[in-house]
Amino acid sequence: MRSTLAPETPRSVYIHVPFCRHRCGYCNFTLVAGRDDLVDSFLDALAIELQQHGQTTEVDTIYLGGGTPTHLNVRHLRRLFALLSKWFSLAKDGEWSCEANPLDCVDEKLALLRECGVNRISIGGQSFDDRKLSLLERDHRGIDLDSAITASLEYFESVSLDLIFAAPGETLDSWQKDLRSGMSSGVTHLSTYGMTVEKGSAFYGRLSKAQFAEVDEEIQLAMYLSTIDQLTEAGWDHYEISSFAKNGRRCRHNEVYWTGRSWLAFGPGAARFVDGWRSVNHRSTTQYIRLLQKGCSPTVELEQLSREQCLREKFVFGLRRLEGVDLTWLSQNWGSDVEQKFQPALDEFIERGWLSRSDSRISLTRSGLVISDSLWPRFLGESSLP
Ligand code: SF4
Repeated sequence: MRSTLAPETPRSVYIHVPFCRHRCGYCNFTLVAGRDDLVDSFLDALAIELQQHGQTTEVDTIYLGGGTPTHLNVRHLRRLFALLSKWFSLAKDGEWSCEANPLDCVDEKLALLRECGVNRISIGGQSFDDRKLSLLERDHRGIDLDSAITASLEYFESVSLDLIFAAPGETLDSWQKDLRSGMSSGVTHLSTYGMTVEKGSAFYGRLSKAQFAEVDEEIQLAMYLSTIDQLTEAGWDHYEISSFAKNGRRCRHNEVYWTGRSWLAFGPGAARFVDGWRSVNHRSTTQYIRLLQKGCSPTVELEQLSREQCLREKFVFGLRRLEGVDLTWLSQNWGSDVEQKFQPALDEFIERGWLSRSDSRISLTRSGLVISDSLWPRFLGESSLP
């Protein structure tokens, strides 16, 4: 079966490193905690998966995510980078990001990351507040995050920080204080996420037993809006629903996802999108290793998106960016009258003040940003495109 899309050589690669010291209370990501005994087998498996792919590629962005890539010890990190450098070269001016846990941001590891080509660190700090960190079951304290940022800035010009708001019991005041700490910390990028309690996390069971309560929706809303106000007033570039950059330091890798371009992905649970095909690896680290040890593909889901699905997703992902989507460009590139097909939803959402229009460009308004998730189904599920 052939893809319905013109081939596009991926210029981005994601590597999933599924190891953490322990699992934080709110986390349901694809990872194993406290299983460092599996790291060598994982690296063996990753080597086989890359060999199965079998192509050396120059890429513009590399993203090491997890899990916590920096949880690997120095020997394992060296092995990982040797493996990656065999298959991928980073283009001049390319971006190589690595997620890091605050406690791992020590000279030895930071120097190694830089030496191996990483030029952007993304620290999963979540908060500077000790009480909140302990509630989230993080393994670091505020002072550790301060030191991690200071150390990272000595090695990298581009340092991103993830912060969570709406942790149980959190007030608007305490969140604003946390955010101010992030703003003044020297980082060049902030990603702010409202805490959600997902199935598979420890918090999910506790919530169902009413052992804690989620922050009231109105307060969550106030937290999000005050985040936008504080950051934009201070000159940060709000370029995606949850992402803010300083001095032009947007995350180029994530922009690949939001603009619907192709990317490669390797590791447990890794999802890739190439030429209209979306495929996903087995989420279990042990199963991923077993499959590759047997010489099988670790891919367990494979779906060919129709031209229409691709178009719809491109529109929805594009709307996540504050710049929005140019309907004329989309129609010209996809040979379909996008405007006509989305018309009922576009008219309604513009009328309600959730979307705005400037010539042929559609973007989220402030009210639309707040409820964006509820807008997507209308664009993803309308009647057939020609
Ligand atoms: S460090 Fe990050 S990936 Fe690891 S368990 Fe905690 S939230 Fe999940």
